[in-house]
This record gives sequence, C-alpha cells and structure tokens, in this order.
Amino acid sequence: MKVTEIFGSNVFNDKVMKERLPKEIYRALKETIDMDVPLRPEVADVVANAMKDWAIEKGATHYTHWFQPLTGITAEKHDSFISPASNGSVIVEFSGKQLIQGEPDASSFPSGGLRTTFEARGYTAWDCTSPAFLKTDESGNCTLTIPTAFYSYKGEALDKKTPLLRSMKAVSKHALRVLRALGNTTSAKVTSTVGPEQEYFLVDREYYLKRTDLMLTGRTVFGAPAPKGQELEDQYFGAIKDRVSDYMSDLNAELWKIGITSKTQHNEVAPAQYEMAPIFATTNIATDHNQLVMETMQKVAFRHGLVCLLHEKPYAGINGSGKHNNWSLSTDDGVNLLDPGHTPGENVQFLLVLCGLLKAVDTHADILRATCASAANDHRLGANEAPPAIISIFMGEELTEILEKIVQGKKITGRDKEFLHVGVDSLPMFPKDNTDRNRTSPFAFTGNKFEFRMVGSSQSIAGPNVALNTIAAEVFDEIATRLEKAKNINSEATAIINEFYKKHSRVIFNGNNYSDEWLGEAQKRGLPNITNSVDALAAFVTAKSLKLFGRYEVFSEKELHSRYEIYVDHYAKQINIEALTAIDMAKKQLIPAGIEYAAFLANSISSLKAVSAKSPVAEDLLQKVSSLLTASYTNLDKLEKGVAEAQRTDETVKKAELYRDKVVTSMQALRADIDALEMIVPSDMWPVPIYAELLFNL
Ligand code: ADP
Ligand code: MG
Repeated sequence: MKVTEIFGSNVFNDKVMKERLPKEIYRALKETIDMDVPLRPEVADVVANAMKDWAIEKGATHYTHWFQPLTGITAEKHDSFISPASNGSVIVEFSGKQLIQGEPDASSFPSGGLRTTFEARGYTAWDCTSPAFLKTDESGNCTLTIPTAFYSYKGEALDKKTPLLRSMKAVSKHALRVLRALGNTTSAKVTSTVGPEQEYFLVDREYYLKRTDLMLTGRTVFGAPAPKGQELEDQYFGAIKDRVSDYMSDLNAELWKIGITSKTQHNEVAPAQYEMAPIFATTNIATDHNQLVMETMQKVAFRHGLVCLLHEKPYAGINGSGKHNNWSLSTDDGVNLLDPGHTPGENVQFLLVLCGLLKAVDTHADILRATCASAANDHRLGANEAPPAIISIFMGEELTEILEKIVQGKKITGRDKEFLHVGVDSLPMFPKDNTDRNRTSPFAFTGNKFEFRMVGSSQSIAGPNVALNTIAAEVFDEIATRLEKAKNINSEATAIINEFYKKHSRVIFNGNNYSDEWLGEAQKRGLPNITNSVDALAAFVTAKSLKLFGRYEVFSEKELHSRYEIYVDHYAKQINIEALTAIDMAKKQLIPAGIEYAAFLANSISSLKAVSAKSPVAEDLLQKVSSLLTASYTNLDKLEKGVAEAQRTDETVKKAELYRDKVVTSMQALRADIDALEMIVPSDMWPVPIYAELLFNL
C-alpha cells in the first residue's frame, strides 16, 4: 500500500477536475468553489457528466446526495444512474440538475416544527466546496457521494451544514474588513479552519454483543469497576498492540482513499481508548470528514471483530472521550490570524484578533457551552472530568504577561520582546510547548490556534464551529467598524486591545481547571457553570443568541427555536432509551443472577444444616445479597415510576427536566446496587461481560 497512490483515489478532487473538465468549465467551477460565484447551469451539466463518467469507471452504479440532518449523523438515499431507453434497455445518465438539487422525502427527519407534514418536502443542494467522493463497501459496491446542504421548502436550514456555510461567510466578511482597515490589500477571503482530534474506544465484538446497554445506548449503564483502571498511566502513548495497529492501518487506508488526511494515532489515557487526528482543513470540509471518520471507524472495526465506541462515556470510573476542536482563521494567501507575527504591525493584528476572541468567548460562553450539550456529554462536562463545564481560556503565562503589560502601559522587554518578534526576524518563534502544557482548559490557546476541548466524541463538530465562526464575526464586525472610523488606526487598535483585555480577562484562567478552588474563583468572577444539558441548551434561545445569529444571518429565530426543541427532545429520548435498557437488564439478567446466587447460598446453608454444620460465611453473604436485591428492587420500581411520569409529560422542556431530575438519578441509584451485587456474585453466575473483560482483552 503506497500512501501517495491511494490518497484521494476515491475523490473527485482538484486533480481529477483539472484532468477531466474543459478548461473554461474548470475555471468557472473553481470560481464557485473559491469565491462563492453562483454556478451556471451549463457548467453544472458538464461537471455532472464528468463526475458520472469518473464514478462509473471506478465501479459506481449509484449516486447519492449526502447530508447531515439534525440527528447528528449523516443521511443518504441512493439512486442508480440508469434511465430507460426506447428499445427496452437502459442508458446511464446524470444531469446538472440531478447534481445540483435533490428532493429526498424528508418527513421523517427532525425539523422541530419547521416543516409541517403538509409541506414535508426537503431539498438537498450540492455543496461544491466539499469534494464529491466514492463510498465503497467490502463487496465492492460503490456510490458517488455528493456532499449537500439540506433545507425546507421555505429555505430554512434542516441540517448542520447550511448554518456552517453561512457562518463561514459571515466570519470571512468581517475578518476581511479588519484586515483591510489594517492596510491589507491582498487577501480576498478568510477561512475558518479546524483539525478535530477524535477519541474512541475499541471493544471485542463478542463481548459487545452480550451487553444490551452497549448495543442500544453506546455505554455501559451497569458495571463495577475493574481492579485496574487507568491509574498506572500505562496506556497513554503506550506501544500499540498488534490487533489495534491492524485496525488503525486498515482505518487509515480507508480514510486516505476518500481524501481524509489521517495523520496522528495513539493510545489515549483510558484502557482500550485511542485517538486519531487529521491535518486541519476548512471548517466545512473538516466537518464532513469528521462525520466520515466516525462512520469509517465503526465500519472498519466490524471487519476486525471489534466495535468502535464513540460515546462520550462508555465506562464509569475512567476517562470519557472528547473531540478536541483545534480552530483558527487563515487568509487565502496563507496568513494564520492566530499566529503571532514577525513585525510590530503583524503583532497588532494578532493581538487584535486574540483580544477580539477573548471578548467573543467571554460574551458568548453560554452559547459555546450549549453547542456541546448532550445527554452523553453530561458525563464529562461538570462531572469531575475533563474539561469542566465552565468556559475559560488558557492563554499561557507569557502571553498573559504581555497583555498585562500592554494594558498597564509598561514597556515590553526581554523575553516578551522575543516572543513578539518586535522587528527582529532572526529570533526563533516562541516555543509552542509553553502554551500547550495546560491539558485541563476547555479553551486553550496553543500557539497558533484555539483548542476547544468540550466537544463530545460522538457529536458533529458543525455546531461548535458555527458558534465559533459567528461569535468571531460579531467581534470582528465591531473591531472593523471602529477601525474604519478611526483617524489614527494604530492608537484605535491599541485602545481596542486595552479595552477588550480589561473587560474580558476574567475569562482567562491558566491554572488547574479541575481544582475546587477554580469552581469558587469562577463563581466570584461571574463565569457561568452549567452542569447539565437541559439548562445549557437554553442558551440557544436567549435574546442575546437570537440577536447574534440573526444579525449574521446564520440562524433565523425560527431555526434556533426549532434546534433548541430538537436537542432537548433528543436528550429526553436518549435518557428514555438508557432507562428502558437499565430496567430491561436489571429485570431480566442482573437481578435474576442475584436471585440465583441467593438460592445457591440458601441451598448450601440448608445442606450444611442437614449434617449439623454451621455456615456463617454463606449466611453472611446471603444476607448481603438479599439486602442488595431488596434495594435494587426498590430502586427499579422508582426508576419505572420516574420513566412513566416523564413519558406522560408532553411539554418538551418539562419532560427533559423530569428525565434529568428523576430518571437519571434513579438510574444512578439502581446502578450502585447492581454494581455492588456484581462485586459479590460469582463470575460464572454474572450474565454479562465485566469491565475487566471489556477493557483489558485487546
Ligand atoms: P496537539 O499537541 O494537541 O496534538 P497538534 O499540533 O498535533 O496538537 O495539532 C492538533 C490538531 O490541530 C491537528 O489536527 C492539526 O492539524 C490542527 N491544527 C494545526 N494548525 C491548525 C490551524 N491553523 N487551524 C486549525 N487546526 C490546526
Ligand atoms: Mg490537542
């Protein structure tokens, strides 16, 4: 396998387009891709035809408009290329119209009231900024897959891509205004970029199939801790075992074929936990790719007798999985706006962007938090795990010191000067490691990008990036407006840096985010700490949020309300599934196992009694098992009543609150009893695989 040969071999990429499209068509399409120029129908026809020929040569029989509805996963409906011919045979056809627009029957996708049943139609529109590719399966079936945006008859977004594209446009427009005001005349576009680090677990499929909870909810709703966890820190960056490296190499090959730049792979902190990171791309392409990464991880695992768990918290007591969203902005002529520059001028720009983002993140911390809210991610955020639910920014000591000095009007000296490269090009770039030491921060500046670490491992990265792009657009709009009016650009820029830093440095925290002191300190600073999804999601529909997203035309009020509704509803459904699974397992597998053991103990006690022997150990165990059985039966009853009450409730938010307050807590109580039972029931009587088997057998 040669990487250079297989990389992108299944992508209708720039190289293929250049080879297969007439020059003027290629140029027209590139203009649409790079500069948002509308695509002419005659161009689309030629492109469609070339795409079809290419796909068919590679074995494709079908095409699909691939989209990202609000379920959080992707959707596809396949159509073959065949059209009837007059003589009873068929020809293959694919028109520009078929490429540009599709009309899937969309009535079963969540719309949060945007689409009443009588206008159930949804439309998909080709997103030519993300290249089409071929999806293949093991038996060789091959489908031309066209990334699309999905919206309603009235043009309302029903997906994750539409707002992302809108937010990219907004941030480009206003970042460019800032650059122009600072004298930049060459850049034509600013693109938001992201490199998402994807964490995941692998588990043996044989064990997985014996655990209803893993199969139906993606996590273990029961399970006592194994004697060994992650305390030896022997997994992180450890040597990769053969079975896992086989999996990874197969995964890489699949990803490379579809043009995904799988770059880094390693063992993560928890046993059986791993990570893959690609090279960053535009937020749009990276989002599409991340969806494909998650799908491919699961598909490839199957071939290896494994299952890939993307859930944020498959196992209690060890780390969960997140997705580090490394985000930045760069111009089309290659300048990363978060890279400290080589000249004082570049540094003004850098500091303006940095302080702008400081303001944006402080102002809209609640929105960023909301974009990471899900029932699964509640197990991480605010639940004694990385990172906390409080949004703070890690800036690093050096950078914080420099900003402090600037606002205090102090002279920049020595080490700071070196870092800022004030007029001295020969000095080395400041060491990146300095800013990357803090692993506990939810939002860390890592030298030339921000790493947003709250994002959950299974969620689409679209939402977080829509928010990042939009809050950046807003603050750049403000900065640009001020600079455009200013008589002296430099002094206005300095004034902005000063003002933003003074007002918003409360969001900077360079210390340990897991510490209790931070909880208290954050409260003093007035930073929000929202530890559950139902409350967090409400940030989408505050007046502030409606105004922000409305103003930059990313979401209309209706779209935001519908999303809020869908996500809250999803939370309730997720907890409902978990609760029903817990009830099912407790009733049919785990409580019966306890009863079986109790019977065994009782028999043994009476056999011993028959020969007048005593059995204090068996009697003690029987007593313990019986009391755990009684407790779990009581908690099971409570859980069933809680579920019934929540199910009876109609209003979405009320319902979700009931699931949060009654069902989640009863589930935890039931789990405590059952896990204690697991710890004393003999291994051969416990009906499901235990943590030691799930975590330590790869
Ligand atoms: P870490 O130390 O966190 O592993 P890396 O340097 O390996 O950091 O980068 C992690 C991710 O950040 C990678 O996906 C990388 O491509 C991405 N990244 C690097 N530069 C940028 C950038 N300018 N914009 C967005 N993502 C970036
Ligand atoms: Mg990282």
